[in-house]
Amino acid sequence: MKKTLTGLKPSGELTLGSLIGAIKQMKDYQEDYDSYLFVPDLHAITVPQDPKELKERIRKNVGLYLACGIDPKRNTIYLQSENLYHANLSWVLECTTYMGEASRMTQYKDKTSKGENVSVGLFTYPILMAADIILYDADYVPVGIDQKQHVELARDIATRFNNKYGNTFKIPEPLIPKTGAKIMDLQAPTKKMSKSADNYKGTILLLDPPETAKKKIMSAVTDSDNLVKYDPINKPGISNLLTIYSSLKEIPITEVEKHFQDYNYGSLKKEVAEVVATTLTTIQKKYQEIINSNIINEVLDAGREKTTKLAEAKLKEVYHKIGLER
Ligand code: ATP
Ligand code: MG
Repeated sequence: MKKTLTGLKPSGELTLGSLIGAIKQMKDYQEDYDSYLFVPDLHAITVPQDPKELKERIRKNVGLYLACGIDPKRNTIYLQSENLYHANLSWVLECTTYMGEASRMTQYKDKTSKGENVSVGLFTYPILMAADIILYDADYVPVGIDQKQHVELARDIATRFNNKYGNTFKIPEPLIPKTGAKIMDLQAPTKKMSKSADNYKGTILLLDPPETAKKKIMSAVTDSDNLVKYDPINKPGISNLLTIYSSLKEIPITEVEKHFQDYNYGSLKKEVAEVVATTLTTIQKKYQEIINSNIINEVLDAGREKTTKLAEAKLKEVYHKIGLER
């Protein structure tokens, strides 16, 4: 069975973008693939974190994975930091990566373009991500479009290693959703909705009270044409709302466009807001049942055990090929 693998950093609260870009894909594919869904907590510390909040968010992430419909029987769920082999392989891969290619990562360039003082970890994190993926020979990596370049880097690094030392790693492929590969910020619809945004008016959190989420949709920035049309370049705000509706209702965008063609923006927003609120209500009901139960620990214990064995074997093979043994 082919493997899928992905993770969502506990760098902030999971958002509607997290759900549509990554978690929903994992859920939709979980019957067909051997699925690995982890909490990339080591990635979260590439930017400053408050220890108490980070700990809470790690647990919340797992609770939300399950609440969003991720079946622990069909998925291996684990914490990156509980498996020491990720960081080990990452070091080997850092020594297999050129400064030039790491410097071309647009996320790093964006985050440093503001002239902020950033950590070396923020620069090398795509290499740790490559390790996360190829350590388990994942075939597919369900991600939003913003992560495509990082999966491509993982492919390049794995290919280079294989060419030099003999076939060791599977070459992974990104799986980008047809609809919702990039959910936009509601207040700035040319920017990605992001969990580390400074303005939460533009971001819907999966744990937002449904009434709050509705208000955020109702005050989403649109345009003044009063014409419902899917046109992400010229009408990013409206197109974003149509995308959210299309993804959550699982209706193709062309049909969604048709459904709303005679609506004014106010009534369009109202219907999108309802769908979002219903989605959140369902997730939050399950979340409340899960978050204080022992299921999270059980799932993570099983995940740690299974992945530690797999990762240990892979790293041994890697060390052997490189000559790191006596
Ligand atoms: P940060 O701002 O800290 O980078 P993030 O919201 O981008 O947070 P990540 O943990 O970096 O979240 O990404 C987790 C996954 O969710 C990735 O696969 C990413 O592509 C996807 N994703 C994140 N935001 C969106 C979005 N707005 N639309 C679609 N997919 C998204
Ligand atoms: Mg991100």
